[in-house]
Amino acid sequence: MSDAEYRRKRDFGRTPEPKGSRSKKREGRWPLFVIQQHAATSMHFDFRLEAEGALKSWAVPKGPSTDPRDKRLAMPTEDHPLEYVDFEGVIPEGEYGAGPVIVWDRGVYENRSVDKRGREITVSRAIELGSVKVYLHGQKISGGFALVRMGRKPGERESWLLVKERDAEADARRKPVSSQPESVVSGRTIKELLIEKGS
Ligand code: MN
Repeated sequence: MSDAEYRRKRDFGRTPEPKGSRSKKREGRWPLFVIQQHAATSMHFDFRLEAEGALKSWAVPKGPSTDPRDKRLAMPTEDHPLEYVDFEGVIPEGEYGAGPVIVWDRGVYENRSVDKRGREITVSRAIELGSVKVYLHGQKISGGFALVRMGRKPGERESWLLVKERDAEADARRKPVSSQPESVVSGRTIKELLIEKGS
């Protein structure tokens, strides 16, 4: 899924979302991740990992869990431009994904993806192989997470699972999606953002 798909779906004269420029090489620093809460047609959390100058993206209806027993459905969506890590605002009525978006969590991550022989691979390669492993360093969410592609029947959309790995950051009781609803950028909740914008 490419940048072109991202741009085709949006009218940048109307939506406040970033247009995205050419991919920037930002070597010598850790890649970014962001989890945006998005009240579109249905509420979900967009889980995005920086890879190859873009944000690889999945929509996670229930959001991430810190409990390794939870398997959270994650539906792949189009790559988003890197600038999207900062996007918080209201996508206007009639536009693709209309509704408020907050930066629910953000930080850097370590890619820990390996192939069947245990050799390190890039996130893009890991996506092709259907198994991505990352170690997140966010403000709310930290530790190892696995994204695993599920078997797919012909004609069905590809779906993945987002699962917390068993490590020191695992915590079955925390439930950060409900206990920490506010934006890490503005401190506002998605409901407050909607009320502020008067829509
Ligand atoms: Mn979304």
